[in-house]
Amino acid sequence: MADSWMEDKRMTSSRILDFLAAERPDGPCLVIDLEVVRRNFLRLAEAFPATGIYYAVKANPAPEILDLLASLDCCFDAASVAEIDMALAAGATPERISYGNTIKKERDIARASALGVRLFAVDCMEEVEKIARQAPGARVFCRVLTDGEGAEWPLSRKFGCHTDMAAKVLERAHGLGLDACGLSFHVGSQQCDLAAWDRAVGDAKKVFLALGEKNIRLSMLNLGGGFPARYLKDVPSTLAYAEAIHSAMTRHFGNQLPATIVEPGRGIVGDAGVIKTEVVLISRKSDADDTRWVYLDIGKFGGLAETMDEAIRYPIRTPRDGSEAAPCIIAGPTCDSADVLYEKTPYALPLSLQIGDELLIEATGAYTSTYASVAFNGFAPLPTYIVGGKSDAALAA
Ligand SMILES: *Cc1c(COP(=O)(O)O)cnc(C)c1O
Repeated sequence: MADSWMEDKRMTSSRILDFLAAERPDGPCLVIDLEVVRRNFLRLAEAFPATGIYYAVKANPAPEILDLLASLDCCFDAASVAEIDMALAAGATPERISYGNTIKKERDIARASALGVRLFAVDCMEEVEKIARQAPGARVFCRVLTDGEGAEWPLSRKFGCHTDMAAKVLERAHGLGLDACGLSFHVGSQQCDLAAWDRAVGDAKKVFLALGEKNIRLSMLNLGGGFPARYLKDVPSTLAYAEAIHSAMTRHFGNQLPATIVEPGRGIVGDAGVIKTEVVLISRKSDADDTRWVYLDIGKFGGLAETMDEAIRYPIRTPRDGSEAAPCIIAGPTCDSADVLYEKTPYALPLSLQIGDELLIEATGAYTSTYASVAFNGFAPLPTYIVGGKSDAALAA
């Protein structure tokens, strides 16, 4: 079985294939190749040479990933005190950590401040007031709403405020003695429409102007995440993103460019990971119905939550690829009827697929291990194995 994986190295690195062939881990698992994480980070750093890169820890907080990124001088976007602790444990200094969640308990702001974190996201007056009380003088940036259009995993509505309110929020921050340093937005995760940044940068410029009239000079624009992993469809290159963003910045800001940061999550770890899974059952609902149901030992509750609404379609490799394939419904193993991965748009898998076959779900390095439930139906959380990195880390040391 492993042999036919070996023939197809399109997305899964040979290090991951070798690991699976040698270790044969039982049950579903995620395998991360640190060399791919390193390559993705360096590619972004090269494409955005003047921009601070803050890895969105939530995408995959495996300590080995955070250690590697910290050693490459990456900064971190944390959403909680626990994520701040993880970034610190990886060796990041507090100046390299942004507390980017707009929804924070006041005592967590105090804890972050005590740990030395000085950069906070806000999107309303109430949050500004908490920060002014618990982290006096800290730097704050205000998140503005985007429409999330074009994103496969939109983040609109819940985070950010209207540009008119952003100006007021930052004015208030300034009045309370905080360093109102700039703005942020997130154009939506897996954003393949390069024009999304142009719209958002244009909106940000309006707030820069409005505050300039009040003698508050913003100095930073946080361009968010949204950089894609390659799933079934091709995606624009990292350089294409850099060019689109650079031209949006110069179109709206001319030669008065603010400092910029980006917060990639998926774009750094998405295609660095592969989930190994096993076919538990292949069945039909009646003799007359030839739709196959293929049940795997991983589903929505085991780490594949981003198949919600079939938003993210992962590439799936089988040991029988190349033989005749037909559409089927793919579902997870739990006793919840929502645990169906692909049904509205059925997935083609080989007709010769057998119970017990092991499949590879590719580009699953982001938003999987942390989306696994603790023990729904008694299924264990998704284990992560790490390959690559050690030899080079040893060389660098
Ligand atoms: C999740 C998140 C990110 C990362 O988004 P990707 O699309 O995975 O790059 C960046 N910034 C914030 C504030 C986030 O919540």
